[in-house]
Amino acid sequence: MLETTLQRRLEERRSLSRYRQRREIQSAQTSRLSLNGREFLQFCSNDYLGIANHPKLIQAMQDAAAQFGVGSGASHLVCGHSSLHHQLENRLADITGRERALLFSTGYMANLGVIAGLLGKGDQVLEDRLNHASLLDGGLLSGARFQRFQHNNLEDLERRLMTLPEQGERLIVVDAVFSMDGDMAPLPELAKLAQRYDASLMADDAHGFGVLGNTGAGSAEFFGLSQRELPILMGTLGKGLGSYGAFVAGSETLIESLIQFARPYIYTTAMPPAVAAATLAGLDLLQTEAWRREHLQSLIGYFKAQAASLGFNVMPSDTAIQPLMVGGEAEAMAISAELERRGILVTAIRPPTVPVGSSRLRITLSAAHSTADIDQLLAALCEILPEAGA
Ligand SMILES: *Cc1c(COP(=O)(O)O)cnc(C)c1O
Repeated sequence: MLETTLQRRLEERRSLSRYRQRREIQSAQTSRLSLNGREFLQFCSNDYLGIANHPKLIQAMQDAAAQFGVGSGASHLVCGHSSLHHQLENRLADITGRERALLFSTGYMANLGVIAGLLGKGDQVLEDRLNHASLLDGGLLSGARFQRFQHNNLEDLERRLMTLPEQGERLIVVDAVFSMDGDMAPLPELAKLAQRYDASLMADDAHGFGVLGNTGAGSAEFFGLSQRELPILMGTLGKGLGSYGAFVAGSETLIESLIQFARPYIYTTAMPPAVAAATLAGLDLLQTEAWRREHLQSLIGYFKAQAASLGFNVMPSDTAIQPLMVGGEAEAMAISAELERRGILVTAIRPPTVPVGSSRLRITLSAAHSTADIDQLLAALCEILPEAGA
């Protein structure tokens, strides 16, 4: 019986300290969140620029809702593609320096759409072991031969590329910034390998878009990679951009193919036009409030330096994702609970999201934080982990 089997699986997950629970937030996303009537300092959202609650995004959404209503009414290919969606696609293509961009309702769907929509039986997909679940799911769903290479290991990838059969397409897929580790993929070297072995390269820039690069255009801008070098660029709009949704940017051929063949694009209702309007306001802020990126960078530097001098086991990352490696599930949960008792929210990330034995506290920084917030977090960690903070 399904019910009995499910009860057994839930019990097993609980006994492994892997049970997941949701928190009910009663406020907008800022550096402070209210929860059960109490205010918490939080280091767990992906609102890296601190704009999810920005008055300009709110205003844009309200204005667009007044004009376009709430629901988009249909999928993009039926009659749900509004001029606001279209305008946003043009802006995204412009900002990323690509011929075109295509909106998806979520990043998860964009990744399924690209990989499973463009590749199939007889093709080859090579993914970094630590790629986001949506990329791995896309690889499996595609029906292509799917292999995972060692994290950020170019030698391992090249060894695999050398032994691929001649026929079929080849796609190398990576997170540009790894979501649970915060380190970056060596995109320029990956682009060279892709070229040498006649493969295409796809990067998921969920954690770089809006944050990295001179204008906030993300990892491709950070490394100066053109459409030819990085032909499939995916980004999300619910993290750094403070809004919701995702996009894929690349050639005219790529985008037209996605419109024709990507099932997660075709068979779903378009995001509300007002959400696209809010995202457009978020893109305006990339230009007018560059201080957010600069402030975030200085907070990252401050956190790293302070954490290192206090002896904390912070993973090597230069991005807003600064995980503190713990190891065991129960231990990570206990530290997170102790922080919460002190009024600080940091999520414990456990298997199966990360490999067994690498449970961690995923600390995320945002432009909404101050150095005093970071001091408060580190002081609390010193109390909880006195041996590390000695
Ligand atoms: C969050 C995330 C996604 C999914 O994006 P959504 O818009 O939240 O569905 C995809 N890839 C990576 C690397 C992510 O971190």
